[in-house]
Amino acid sequence: MGTVKAVALVSGVDNIKGFIHFIQDAAGPHFNPLKKDHGSPLDDERHAGDLGNIVAGTDGVAEISITDEQIPLSGPYSILGRAVVVHADPDDLGKGGHELSKTTGNAGARVGCGNI
Ligand SMILES: [Zn+2]
Repeated sequence: MGTVKAVALVSGVDNIKGFIHFIQDAAGPHFNPLKKDHGSPLDDERHAGDLGNIVAGTDGVAEISITDEQIPLSGPYSILGRAVVVHADPDDLGKGGHELSKTTGNAGARVGCGNI
C-alpha cells in the first residue's frame, strides 16, 4: 500500500475555520487499544484520537504538524469518517484531577468540528 491521504475541514462559530491534512505512509494499521483512559499523545494510556494541545499565534492561527502512530487512515481502526474536534480550553491530558480529566481532558466547549 502506498501513501494514503485524507483531509478534514474544521469550522465553528466566530469565524473559526481551518483544515488538517492526514498523511499515512504505507504500512498497515496500528493496534488500537480499547477502553483506555484519556491521555497525552505520548502516553500508553490514551484514546487513539488524543492528539494533545495546539497553540495559536497572536494572529489566531495555529499551524500544527503532528506525527502519531495510533490514527491509521486504512484498516479496521481507520479514522476516516470520524470527527476532528477543537476544544476551547487546554487539554489537561488526563492529569488535571478534574472529574472530566480521564474522559475529555476537561478541555471545555467544542469550538470547531470537522469530518475526516
Ligand atoms: Zn481522549
